[in-house]
Amino acid sequence: MKKTFAEKSSLLVFLGTAALISTAVFFLKSCNKKTEKEQEQLSTEHNSEKIVPRSAKVMSSKPDIPDDPNKRYIYLTFDDGPNRGTKNLLKITNKYQIPITAFVVGKHAYDSKTQAKELKELENDKLVEIANHSYSHAANRYSEFYKNPENVIHDFDRARDSIKFKNKYARTPGRNIWRTADITATDIKTSKIAADELQRSGYTLVGWDLEWKPDNTMKLKGTHKEMAKRIDSIFFNDLEKTSRHLVFLTHDQYLHDDDSVRELDLFISGLQNSNRFEFRKISDYPKINDILK
Ligand SMILES: [Zn+2]
Repeated sequence: MKKTFAEKSSLLVFLGTAALISTAVFFLKSCNKKTEKEQEQLSTEHNSEKIVPRSAKVMSSKPDIPDDPNKRYIYLTFDDGPNRGTKNLLKITNKYQIPITAFVVGKHAYDSKTQAKELKELENDKLVEIANHSYSHAANRYSEFYKNPENVIHDFDRARDSIKFKNKYARTPGRNIWRTADITATDIKTSKIAADELQRSGYTLVGWDLEWKPDNTMKLKGTHKEMAKRIDSIFFNDLEKTSRHLVFLTHDQYLHDDDSVRELDLFISGLQNSNRFEFRKISDYPKINDILK
């Protein structure tokens, strides 16, 4: 989406503080290798199309919440619950009283009694919005899964019927795919037909702008400070799908060890204390409730 001059100006004002801090940090460091690495990661993560104009009629079912032009909005999303780590996630969100969206896997609710109980906890928590992340998680065989669009729809319907989601938001396992009334993006093109079919079946597919990935021991990789810098960088370089709104992803299962839990805690408290950001649920993302007719 092209930004207007006014939006860009306010973005520059907003980022002024961040730029000053970044400059100070730059002079304190002897090299800027990390910055180059970050840029490389950004360019590989944001290589899909941004917004595809559509000719179809759009029905607005709910007006957007008004934005404060001086704020940036962050949608914290956590995938693959209920899972190990879900309990720790809920401790953090309740500590800071921040809204999140949990994309849950239908099958995980039946894998153990603990997970069934954790699903109830997610459902009963007013700070949590739960949404569909399929039933089987493609059994982690993504290429095979997306080759059969009919099976993909069946899998999402199965999760919908067993969990009884209160919304149509869905996230595709193993793929960063967007299908909303005004955003169409597919990271791996062989999944395109399945994604189109899911949208036709009534699902609104929500991808992400930034992922906090794990290291090879399944702990959160890097520090909260590095993650916060990447958020500033995405807003500064205008890489978010919708200007001033960023969808963040990580996974419940990385919140299993003390280091990862502490890093996520510090990440959230840092963003909250900066006063530049506001957290929202996916249902409050701009135009997410618009429907193509
Ligand atoms: Zn997943």
